[in-house]
Amino acid sequence: MKTLDTIHLKDLRFFSHVGVFPEEKADGQYFNLDIDLFFAEPLKAVDSDLLEESVSYADVYDLVEALVSGARYDLIERLAGAVADLLLDHFPCSAVRVTVKKPEAPIDGEFAYMGVTIMRERKPVFEGKTVYLGLGGNLGEREATLRQALIDLDRHVKVKVEAVSSLYETKAWGVTDQPDFLNAVAKISTSLDPFALLQVLQTIEKRHGRVREVRWGARTLDLDILEIEETTIAAPTLEVPHPRIKERAFVMIPLAEVKGEPVGSDPEVRFYKKDWYCPSQERKVE
Ligand code: ATP
Ligand code: CA
Ligand code: CA
Repeated sequence: MKTLDTIHLKDLRFFSHVGVFPEEKADGQYFNLDIDLFFAEPLKAVDSDLLEESVSYADVYDLVEALVSGARYDLIERLAGAVADLLLDHFPCSAVRVTVKKPEAPIDGEFAYMGVTIMRERKPVFEGKTVYLGLGGNLGEREATLRQALIDLDRHVKVKVEAVSSLYETKAWGVTDQPDFLNAVAKISTSLDPFALLQVLQTIEKRHGRVREVRWGARTLDLDILEIEETTIAAPTLEVPHPRIKERAFVMIPLAEVKGEPVGSDPEVRFYKKDWYCPSQERKVE
């Protein structure tokens, strides 16, 4: 594999309960991780100086910390594998190298650490399912935020933005005492499984300053999974199709538009702007 650019995170230290022995599982210990993200294409941020055209170290750190601190595996090999899969699912890198060091391994003797390094490349196949996503926001630069969310999504190697509806402006639903929303629907194809897709959406929401406080309250960005082909899911964290689509004209109208079906009208939903986002023609290169 040809790599051009690399992002490094070295000696991240996390407490976890990975280990074969019962004491290791019960008491836990510190682990140190080194992470390299390799890119087959030059990082655009090198010229643009824009964080959104690189990978945020903070996003990498937060994801890895959550996985490692909650991990309950026997082996650091398995932990390294889980970290590698997570990174490939969330960031537009071509390959990753993950080193897990165990400085307090329960072995008599003197040593700096025991460890393992694995390297994983992204699989080149892209078998995408069609997914419709609802986008909305009513705080900050609404249109710019929705556009950047689509750019973020499209940069994910397992996601391609295929088509996007016009923007519509709507009075808030549920909790009505808040600014008007801009809403749109995007058609994407993705090889991510639905739960991994939901995580990617939540990472993007967070990057745009989404804080979850009041249900249906004001937010910079809301990304909902509306439909995934014939798939139905009724899990505590994910319901597909989205159960409240039919009561929401601000979803039904852009959804019909992007599907090429007759678009109804609703007094609450005002047409706002057409052609506000152009899906990129470039395919992402492995
Ligand atoms: P609504 O779901 O009524 O549109 P909301 O978008 O304001 O409300 P959020 O606070 O964004 O609600 O999400 C709450 C939880 O809903 C999320 O943490 C997520 O786990 C869950 N959820 C269930 N089904 C879906 C779905 N289809 N798409 C996105 N999130 C979902
Ligand atoms: Ca929503
Ligand atoms: Ca949501």
